[in-house]
Amino acid sequence: MIETHYPLFRKLLEEAKAATLEDMAKTTPDLSAERMADEADIASLDADQTLATKFQTRKAFYLKKVMRALAKLDLGEYGICESCGEEIALNRLKARPIVDLCIDCKEDQEKYENRRKNPNAVSVMDLTPEDL
Ligand SMILES: [Zn+2]
Repeated sequence: MIETHYPLFRKLLEEAKAATLEDMAKTTPDLSAERMADEADIASLDADQTLATKFQTRKAFYLKKVMRALAKLDLGEYGICESCGEEIALNRLKARPIVDLCIDCKEDQEKYENRRKNPNAVSVMDLTPEDL
C-alpha cells in the first residue's frame, strides 16, 4: 500500500529537486579548497575544471533520478522495484526517495558493478600537462 504514502514522497522529492538545482547554481567551497591546495600546479586549472564537471555531472544524474521518481508518482508506479516488480520497503524509500530497486535487487546489481570496475583506470589528476 505504498500509494498512501505518495504525498510524503512527492514532498521529499520536490525538496530534493529544489536543493539540487540550488547546489548546481552555486560554486562549492570544496572545489575552491581543492584549487588553493594545487595553486602551484600548472595543471590545477584543468584539474579544477574536471572536478567541477564531475560535480555537475553527479548532480545532473541525481536530478534526473529525482525527476524520474516524480514522473513515476504521477503514473502511480512509484515505489515499485524496476527489476522484480515488488514494492520497495518503506524505510528504504524514506532514506533515499530516488531508489528504483528493492534492497535484494540493488545488492545483486552492486555485486555485478564491483566485478566490472577497472582498478587500473588512470585518474586525470595523475596526468602531466604534456599528457593533456
Ligand atoms: Zn527487486
